[in-house]
Amino acid sequence: MDAEASSPVSPAPIRSRAFATEAVHAGRDDLASLGLHAAPIDLSTTYPSYDSRAEAERIDAFAATGARPDGPPVYARLDNPTTARFETALARLEGTGSAVAFASGMAALTAVLLARAGAGLRHVVAVRPLYGCSDHLLGAGLLGTEVTWTDPAGVFDALRPDTGLVMIETPANPTLAEIDIQAVAHSCGTVPLLVDNTFATPVLQRPAGHGARIVLHSATKYLGGHGDVMGGVVACDEEFAATLRQVRFATGGVLHPLAGYLLLRGLSTLSVRVRAASATAAELARRLTADPRVARVHYPRLGGAMVSFEVHGDPHRVIAGVGLVTPAVSLGSVDTLIQHPASISHRIVDEGDRRAAGVGDRLLRMSVGLEDVEDLWADLDQALSAEAAGSPPAARTRTAPRRQEPAGQERQRAGR
Ligand SMILES: *Cc1c(COP(=O)(O)O)cnc(C)c1O
Repeated sequence: MDAEASSPVSPAPIRSRAFATEAVHAGRDDLASLGLHAAPIDLSTTYPSYDSRAEAERIDAFAATGARPDGPPVYARLDNPTTARFETALARLEGTGSAVAFASGMAALTAVLLARAGAGLRHVVAVRPLYGCSDHLLGAGLLGTEVTWTDPAGVFDALRPDTGLVMIETPANPTLAEIDIQAVAHSCGTVPLLVDNTFATPVLQRPAGHGARIVLHSATKYLGGHGDVMGGVVACDEEFAATLRQVRFATGGVLHPLAGYLLLRGLSTLSVRVRAASATAAELARRLTADPRVARVHYPRLGGAMVSFEVHGDPHRVIAGVGLVTPAVSLGSVDTLIQHPASISHRIVDEGDRRAAGVGDRLLRMSVGLEDVEDLWADLDQALSAEAAGSPPAARTRTAPRRQEPAGQERQRAGR
């Protein structure tokens, strides 16, 4: 009898696993064999070696191929084993060969643009709206990028011999406009299509399966999911990932290993968080649509936990009037956030371009969290009433002081 096959410790046969299972297990497959349950955090910035020749070979191999170093990473800017677990897991969830993590979503986009510019391809075709700072990075020429803005149907005609990238966001920040990824990918031909999948997450949409070669995330949002970690990640094939690792090594936008740990942990609850928040968001979108105080509601056919809406009057009064909902930029946390894109997330975009992209002055963007739907509705309801009445809300439910004050000096703020 084959001793190997009958061994009680031989691993179970590999079969394809469902998304929810991968979310919990991907990037952690070796933990049991290491005698661990939680992923270890490796905070090393450097790795000892008594063999400089072997180190030289590892450095040469990385410079030549961009592949993850074989053995210890030499230096933390090359690679980190904790962050690599997050990269492995995210690639599995997006259905790509690899993923490369960065210090933020903007660091990730910067690396993609530099990688394409390094190949002499500085022209980008992009569809508005994009996240405000992405729009700014492409358009301001900070990286020598030249951009042609178009609509999805105009992508093919906008391509040039030096086009290195086509970039779209769907559902888009902040209008939640949706784009047919497959149709745009078809128009792109051999030019790589980048889809910013921050809003949908791989729970709702896996762009690589629709022809996108590059999938970008602000991991700060749903992947982390708790508003306490900043990161970015690019899911792509191993060939492009190798180039991105070389850019990351040279430019230094690495993800901290503690952030890598938190993002891996975030992925394990991604499915349940996104599904629960999406159900609440769909119900809030339904109530807002039926509400005469609301002029227009944007909610994607795809679903998701983001809802945008326009009021008839002053959107700033809604922001001033919320109590349970937090008035803050960003999204994807366990708690509900609301913000005014024209003032905050998309402030950096030229006013005319912003309006043309559908980001009007009355638009509010809400990231729905995991609170009870009735509590959220009660809060929105009183903020909308205050807006409609044209006055600040009479009684807020907010009780916590804005800043931590020394014990004994805490003032009563209810009723303000
Ligand atoms: C927040 C965001 C980004 C930028 O990510 P950071 O982590 O803040 O750098 C990019 N794209 C979208 C859609 C975003 O919401």
